[in-house]
Amino acid sequence: MGNYVIGIDLGGTNLKAGIVDTDGKILHRLSIKTNSHANSQAISDQIFSLIDEIIQSSPVKESDVIGVGLGSPGLVDKKGETILFSPNLPRWRNIPIKRIVAERFSKPCVLENDANAAAWGEKWVGVGKGASSLVMLTLGTGIGGGIIIDNKLWRGANNVAAEIGHMVIQVDGPQCNCGNRGCVEVYASATGMVRRFREALKSGALSSVKISDEITAKMINDAALQGDRTSLAIMEETGRYLGIALINIMHVLNPEMIVLAGGMIDSGELLMNPIRQVVRQGAFEASYKDTNIVFSKLGNDAGIIGAAGCLLTELEIFA
Ligand SMILES: [Zn+2]
Repeated sequence: MGNYVIGIDLGGTNLKAGIVDTDGKILHRLSIKTNSHANSQAISDQIFSLIDEIIQSSPVKESDVIGVGLGSPGLVDKKGETILFSPNLPRWRNIPIKRIVAERFSKPCVLENDANAAAWGEKWVGVGKGASSLVMLTLGTGIGGGIIIDNKLWRGANNVAAEIGHMVIQVDGPQCNCGNRGCVEVYASATGMVRRFREALKSGALSSVKISDEITAKMINDAALQGDRTSLAIMEETGRYLGIALINIMHVLNPEMIVLAGGMIDSGELLMNPIRQVVRQGAFEASYKDTNIVFSKLGNDAGIIGAAGCLLTELEIFA
């Protein structure tokens, strides 16, 4: 038995891999652009080549690799073997990727929803170390969610729990990729924030960021940090929408910790202040007063580390 796990984080933009040791440290990493419009076969081929490449380019020998932890966006089937549906990688579906990876590399593989994997990473070696209940929101193209209760990932009856991004916060709100209306990710994901920003500019709001197809959440964040008023207003509004989602989470689960992750947390207090304000105003005091709302510690590494950790947990290599 080896001492290392390959953790894979398949995202809508980047496909990342890391060689992770049993203490949750990444020794070596590689990243490529995800061929996000490709079909399942082409995306699987990208995963295979990345695994081959990381083994070849790493000082760790293949025989020292225990197996592969794969974090993927989308709904994973009840057995944890197949991706059923992935709103942000539309042609990545109905593929028994766990078995395919395990057979190709003759090593165990675990398939986990990417946000679940990231939540597990934070719980294992990140900001959530020591917390027995934790909810994580990953703010990216969509909003991913991971829920840990009593030190275990909560997967639900059909392995599809924690779709926090599709919590409806506005009845009859804008259409979401999932088909419903008014989901929190329509407002407060990076994509949602860019959409609202663009709408504000079209309605005449002034900003140092000019209207174009190239607007990103990072541009809004950078402008907000420079004091751009429209960017600040949009950022504050984003925090308020997230605050509403957090109130719902607290009222249902009363977790010890809520972890926010994704590029948008670079906004720091600009995002956190309105979240805290809305929570203080709207949640029962008993529901929020002992819940820590914090930013992720592992950042972009949470997915890789957590996917590796999920395999170690599945194999019962650590408690
Ligand atoms: Zn939705």
